[in-house]
Amino acid sequence: MDSSKIFECQKCGACCKGYGGIFITDQQMKAIAEFLNITQDEFLSLYCEESGGRTMLRTNEDGCCIMWDELCTIHPVKPTLCRTWPYLKSVLVDKNNLTVIQNACPGVSKDVTYEEFVAAVREYHSMDDSAI
Ligand code: SF4
Ligand code: SF4
Repeated sequence: MDSSKIFECQKCGACCKGYGGIFITDQQMKAIAEFLNITQDEFLSLYCEESGGRTMLRTNEDGCCIMWDELCTIHPVKPTLCRTWPYLKSVLVDKNNLTVIQNACPGVSKDVTYEEFVAAVREYHSMDDSAI
């Protein structure tokens, strides 16, 4: 299947809604704070929470990511998980994750086979068959 038919974002925002567990690294925190023109401490107190000793973006009361406002307000510096979606490496280790991704993202074809999606994930991450 052609890669454009495997995934085409519908811009529905579904991946920015719900308790997403969008963890961020120190490097990403620095980049986002700079993008927002605030200090890292301000970014931490205004937009982040701790979970399991790690820093993650907060979820608003409406269930959306705190960075969501009809679109991602930090798109140029959004965290790796957001940038990678829906080509998650977790698919490589558990076939069922394709169904989870398809159910979460209307942009992923319902007709794509597991093998086709795995190939797309590998291509996205520039991995070869021995890289799992
Ligand atoms: S859920 Fe999928 S289709 Fe919707 S905005 Fe996110 S990536 Fe695009
Ligand atoms: S950082 Fe942006 S892309 Fe990622 S969940 Fe939040 S609003 Fe969506």
